[in-house]
Order: sequence, then structure tokens, then C-alpha cells
Amino acid sequence: MARWLCTIEPSYRLTEVNGRIIGYKIVDHITDLLTELDDNYDGVLHNLSIRTITKHVDSDCIICLEPHNPIIQLPCEHTYCLDSLLNYYALNRQSQCMYCAKVFRFDQCINCV
Ligand SMILES: [Zn+2]
Ligand SMILES: [Zn+2]
Repeated sequence: MARWLCTIEPSYRLTEVNGRIIGYKIVDHITDLLTELDDNYDGVLHNLSIRTITKHVDSDCIICLEPHNPIIQLPCEHTYCLDSLLNYYALNRQSQCMYCAKVFRFDQCINCV
């Protein structure tokens, strides 16, 4: 298994078993949700237990810098569009605010409309 795969494919990992290097791909339901985002936004929200509330948020997505409606607000009050948030998660494998590095759970986030 090629070690370089790990650097270009975040879901690809290597581990050592009895002196042999084994490559494997992580199946992650949050990353899988990315493929559903375009045609099933509400279903993705439901799957991640993200509540929708009516709340005016002035800031744009910190990652793509586009204004979005709705927009996802993290417990630290930084805002991301769901697409950027899931892409960031897929790349980094952790639920951490890109801006302030605070760890969050998806069910603590709010879909602001
Ligand atoms: Zn974005
Ligand atoms: Zn933050």
C-alpha cells in the first residue's frame, strides 16, 4: 500500500499489523453526507441533529467567504455554510472550528434561517 495515498486522500489510513503495513479506508457517515447535501439539505441536518432556528446572522461563511442563507452557527458563534463545514470535517477528521479551534459537536450547531 502506498504511503502517498494518505497525503492525498484523507480517508485513507495505514496501520501496522504483525510487522505488515495495512492500508484501509475509513467509512465515515459525516463525510458520506457531503454527497447528499445538494438534494437533501434537510435530511443532512436531521442526520447531524442540527436544529433550525430563526436567527439573523450577519457574517458570511469563514471558509468560502460567501453569504449564505441558511448558515450554520457553531457554539463558538463562528459561522460556516454546511458545505464548507462538512468539507473541512472530511479533510481534517475533527469537529473543530477552523477559526478559533474550539471543538464542537454537530448537535450543538444551529441552522440559522
Ligand atoms: Zn462556505
Ligand atoms: Zn469558532
